[in-house]
Amino acid sequence: MLIDLHTHHSGSADLSIFNAFDKRTELICSYGIHPWYAEQFSFDFLEELEYLVQQPNCLAIGECGLDKLALSDWNKQMQWLEIQISLSEKYRKPLIVHCVKAIQELILLRRKIDPSQVWIFHGFRKTNTIKQLLEEGFYLSIGTALLTDEKLQEVMRDFPLERLFLETDDKEMNIRLLYEKLAVIRKIPVEYIEKQLMDNFEKVFDRKLLP
Ligand SMILES: [Zn+2]
Repeated sequence: MLIDLHTHHSGSADLSIFNAFDKRTELICSYGIHPWYAEQFSFDFLEELEYLVQQPNCLAIGECGLDKLALSDWNKQMQWLEIQISLSEKYRKPLIVHCVKAIQELILLRRKIDPSQVWIFHGFRKTNTIKQLLEEGFYLSIGTALLTDEKLQEVMRDFPLERLFLETDDKEMNIRLLYEKLAVIRKIPVEYIEKQLMDNFEKVFDRKLLP
């Protein structure tokens, strides 16, 4: 079974988590306010967001986070992130995190909150932060950078697979390509990666996958 941790499309995997933002959907999904749009939502929207994240088809909160390259106000980004962390804790659903040039701020926040839910750092590619993120307890989700980024490919040779997810994000592509690439990099059968990522899913999302 192939899992796509985060996609903006209907997905090519057997199980895809569709990033629905604030739009209601019947798909298996995550709901959240992206830091780019932090200023477009007044805090009145919280009631609707809280309703959405309680729905059974919503598996995670996000993508949400911090982005220093975004035009939206930093304080608003931080406030929306903190709200979404509370929803993640309250409804016991993991957090899918978007973070650009704000890793230290994100880590400090995580230390302060010490969440019970897993935080999955999505779209990961900055290999020089890998060690620190793992030490802080993050899971990492990797997308198409795996196909082209040689530095990332190199660190994936001995990356702990029990802390990994794969994702297509905003790319319209078959997730199988990422599984196959990783299998080549690790020199192991693709089925092994499938099994490990299914185990990760069951653990992080606290639910059993059908055999
Ligand atoms: Zn995304």
